[in-house]
Amino acid sequence: MSVVDRQEWDVVVVGAGGAGLRAAIEARERGARTAVICKSLFGKAHTVMAEGGIAAAMGNVNSGDNWQVHFRDTMRGGKFLNQWRMAELHAQEAPDRVWELETWGALFDRTKDGRISQRNFGGHEYPRLAHVGDRTGLELIRTLQQKIVSLQQEDFKETGDYESRLKVYQECTVTRILKDGSRVSGAFCYERESGRFFVLEAPSVVVSTGGIGKSFKVTSNSWEYTGDGHALALLAGAPLLNMEFVQFHPTGMVWPPSVKGILVTESVRGDGGVLRNSEGKRFMFDYIPDVFKEKYAQSEEEGDRWYEDPDHNRRPPELLPRDEVARAINSEVKAGRGSPHGGVFLDVSTRMPAEVIRRRLPSMYHQFKELADVDITAEAMEVGPTCHYVMGGIAVESDSASARGVPGLFAAGEVAGGMHGSNRLGGNSLSDLLVFGRRAGLHAAQYATGLTGARPLVDEVQVDTAAAEALRPFSAEGPEPGAENGRPPENPYTLHQELQQTMNDLVGIIRREAEMEAALEKLADLRVRARRAGVEGHRQFNPGWHLALDLRNMLLVSECVARAALERTESRGGHTREDHPTMDRAWRRVNLLCQLVDPSGGLAATDPVRGQIDLVRETTEPIRPDLLALFDKEELVKYLAEEELYE
Ligand code: FAD
Repeated sequence: MSVVDRQEWDVVVVGAGGAGLRAAIEARERGARTAVICKSLFGKAHTVMAEGGIAAAMGNVNSGDNWQVHFRDTMRGGKFLNQWRMAELHAQEAPDRVWELETWGALFDRTKDGRISQRNFGGHEYPRLAHVGDRTGLELIRTLQQKIVSLQQEDFKETGDYESRLKVYQECTVTRILKDGSRVSGAFCYERESGRFFVLEAPSVVVSTGGIGKSFKVTSNSWEYTGDGHALALLAGAPLLNMEFVQFHPTGMVWPPSVKGILVTESVRGDGGVLRNSEGKRFMFDYIPDVFKEKYAQSEEEGDRWYEDPDHNRRPPELLPRDEVARAINSEVKAGRGSPHGGVFLDVSTRMPAEVIRRRLPSMYHQFKELADVDITAEAMEVGPTCHYVMGGIAVESDSASARGVPGLFAAGEVAGGMHGSNRLGGNSLSDLLVFGRRAGLHAAQYATGLTGARPLVDEVQVDTAAAEALRPFSAEGPEPGAENGRPPENPYTLHQELQQTMNDLVGIIRREAEMEAALEKLADLRVRARRAGVEGHRQFNPGWHLALDLRNMLLVSECVARAALERTESRGGHTREDHPTMDRAWRRVNLLCQLVDPSGGLAATDPVRGQIDLVRETTEPIRPDLLALFDKEELVKYLAEEELYE
């Protein structure tokens, strides 16, 4: 039996991005003793990298905007597969969450008359993104951190201990959610620096660990995004929803190779940047799909006029939802009309004066100057699709953010599924974090503080099993099920690379049945080899060991993505099938749920070749009639299944 330090809390929040911090603030303000734990340094989360802004229908720049228009745009962007109640709550509550940030000290860019400025973004009918230059995420995290510190100062005054009600464990990773029967009882964790294990006991755990991008080779995501929260929830018995929907952002850097995938914010296009192919053509006009034909400009002149007079002109097709733009770029490159390094050209230099570019897009200016030696005020950028965001995620109840089937488990932010349907609109993530982070914190606190009877207990056997699982890479040369005796340990770096290449090549932006089957075979092989992932040295700051531990999660989420993508025989949002190129209205009624084959949560019992995931089809909940009434009938006909239209 291992001796592992234990600490008791009401709510444990896993992840300190926007969703986690907003959840923690709410939980603490509702009276729950709250711990936040994060894999990286406090303040270093994806949220800090967010550039463009927070989508909220405040109507500051165009008074025509309101929550109903935002709801409509979000549903259109997600091709109507969104969990509509989430989209409704999100559109209604986002403005309050932005104003609240301002009262906590956030300094947004202003309009001439002093209101919070809002910028255009793809798929949003009106200028809607509250922003701070192209460093919005930094301001959001700074503000939430400041709020946390101020709450800790309040607690100090009362208790003499800053961390009595709200504590942050940074550079600590959760590897298992612990349970007492069906209920959550805490989290098993290790500290990166010392390798020390510890347990945070709590009846409520909020998962807010962000995305899965590191399972793909070309990605805008950083090292932490190995799908941990998705895997933790699966292993705890919660299903994942619609994992086939992965967003490939149209504009990542393509050159030099060392920076391939790094994001080029959509604000570049929102502020007037245009996409051209090697022939100099603004090709997006050739790629406006039928469902969007009436809403987008049909000529360059009209598109250009829209920036000055949006009420009498339609927006340029460079501002179509991301899935459409990414596919168009992919097609141009494939047709031989790409840029020298396999992307297309994104140009602001001919569209805005140099000083305006430097003021509105300071990070982009520096990013290209320093990383690619390109001056974006004088020449075009080369850009191409990059894996950016996962729409699929933990299946949650819309109002409470509670994970389905596991009492005490909650999820918010990128790790939660449903809100964005098959494709997320830019800016809708930061608002999602705030709206559902708050809701998750609220309900997690209510659940924990409202428990009657005994609290769930942490089971010693589960702690020992979690410790043994975490230590396994240090002794990984023995015989394994399905492997030959005496085979040498596998290098976790090599396994990571092979996994990323597989997902990139075979389950990437354009998908084909045979390739996805090949991917599942390769994943089966990697699964067997990953059980022999071995590391040398000791537990003190050992990056090889951390990579080996991430593999379990990456393999689980990659299998979910590949299985669900193979199952969905249509193209919708972030899921494009070359062999089923159109959107099929019948599929709008279908959610795909991924569950663990071995419900006990132990991976050892599963056949490594058969895989670890079962897929279940579920009928989507009918959209409430008053929300459907926000759309024209002719539009609904394009999306809804036949029987839904009759209903
Ligand atoms: P994150 O901010 O990703 O935080 C996850 C947290 O979980 C981190 O603290 C991490 O350390 C922790 N964690 C992970 N695994 C574990 C574990 N096992 N144990 C403990 N802790 C763990 N969206 C917009 O709306 N507008 C934008 O302008 C925008 N720009 C973007 C630009 C870039 C470059 C990128 C990459 C994304 C952008 N997005 C944008 C998307 C948005 O930033 C993310 O979707 C969002 O920030 C995710 O927030 P989150 O709170 O869910 O998770």
